[in-house]
Amino acid sequence: MAVGQVASNQHSVYALATPPGRSAIAVVRATGGVEVQKFLESLNIKKNTNGCFVRALKIGDYSDSCLVLSFPSPKSFTGENVVEIHCHGNPVIVSGVFKLLDGFGMNEAERGDFSKRAFINGKIGLDEAESILLGIEAGTEDDLISLESFRKGELGSLVLSLSRDLENLMVEIESQLDFSDEGGVGDVEKKTIQQKLNNNVKSIEKLLVDYRPMRNIEGKRKVAILGLPNAGKSSLFNSLLGSDVAIVSKDAGTTRDIVRKDMVINGLDIEVSDTAGLRKGKSFVEEEGVKKSFKALEEAEVSIWVSDPTNISLEKPKTDIQVLNKCDLIDGESSPKEWLLTSAKTGSGIEVLKKTILKKLKKEGRVFYVSERVYKKLEAAKNKLLVNCYDSDFFEITAQNIRESLIMLKEIYGEYDNEKILSEIFNKFCIGK
Ligand code: GDP
Repeated sequence: MAVGQVASNQHSVYALATPPGRSAIAVVRATGGVEVQKFLESLNIKKNTNGCFVRALKIGDYSDSCLVLSFPSPKSFTGENVVEIHCHGNPVIVSGVFKLLDGFGMNEAERGDFSKRAFINGKIGLDEAESILLGIEAGTEDDLISLESFRKGELGSLVLSLSRDLENLMVEIESQLDFSDEGGVGDVEKKTIQQKLNNNVKSIEKLLVDYRPMRNIEGKRKVAILGLPNAGKSSLFNSLLGSDVAIVSKDAGTTRDIVRKDMVINGLDIEVSDTAGLRKGKSFVEEEGVKKSFKALEEAEVSIWVSDPTNISLEKPKTDIQVLNKCDLIDGESSPKEWLLTSAKTGSGIEVLKKTILKKLKKEGRVFYVSERVYKKLEAAKNKLLVNCYDSDFFEITAQNIRESLIMLKEIYGEYDNEKILSEIFNKFCIGK
């Protein structure tokens, strides 16, 4: 069936839409065709009636007083006949409702069945479907705000206009190809095409900067503490957390593995990492620890360099925040301005450090989230266009690269009715969505 064509004769499926366990109310949702209709008719709810009804559902030898919502096709989430049964939140009752629906020939839904049907029936776009999933998994208010642009289809419009530019370029190349049969193509035409191609690459690169994959699905933001051995990293780590998690010692090289701990600053879930001091490792284990420190630096959204004020090292990796710890040992007046002064010993400066971390985490400002799948497709579309070619096959090869790049861009929004893409997306959903 073509995407966008509402099918109300699809085999009906059902699923629990609320979390399992005991609760005041549980919602069982079903979507499909004739089986849903028969179920509604058994409750004296007429065909194609939209509304909300109180009904005592007869489940075996007992009944449960339920609220039954009917959304006939095509004005429903999936575009099919949808029914919601709000029963009491007892797993035994829920399983009874399932049995009742089995009796009408319905089956339990697969992961993402509802959203997949909504997409196939043209009710939602792939971007909307993916943003529903990301929205359910988002950890913070900031994540939800960052998803807005993707949810509203803004990226979709940008990708569409980019695809049009590439299609126009294809037309231009194809006309050059015809022309080249007559032996009339010069370097000037090649340069013009290459220039236009470069502009398209730049446009995709901008999208890759403005939009980021929402990888960290638990919504945790990563902060890493780095520095030379004995700078007071572990002490600072403990002070931030307000508990003695990492071992503090005057012996250098105590931290070898990364120590990670979650904390919350102003409602933001943060994972802080204490890392091994950066120095030439005295043993294999220490060297491995240092490698892990660099990896933590790479992965962190905010990195903190900690220095001992009596031994400030100017040779350091680029970090977002510079801290002079042990400020209880110095006269703060003479310390360099761009360094933040803290003392893990007295607690001085720790609140300012927390605020600075928060500010840095929010500084990204206009960063929007997309699904990892979309981000990878954008990257792949860009890489296809990067192949420079100045030989005699320039037009043929460039045309082929653009064609492949266009497929990647179209796959983002499911213009390719490709079952593999659909299962890649909808298998990540929970059952009942
Ligand atoms: P790391 O190797 O960078 O993790 O450093 P540690 O946190 O293990 O601390 C190294 C030494 O510095 C320990 O003896 C700590 O007690 C001491 N230290 C850490 N922070 C402070 C501080 O703010 N003031 C003072 N005076 N000593 C500190």
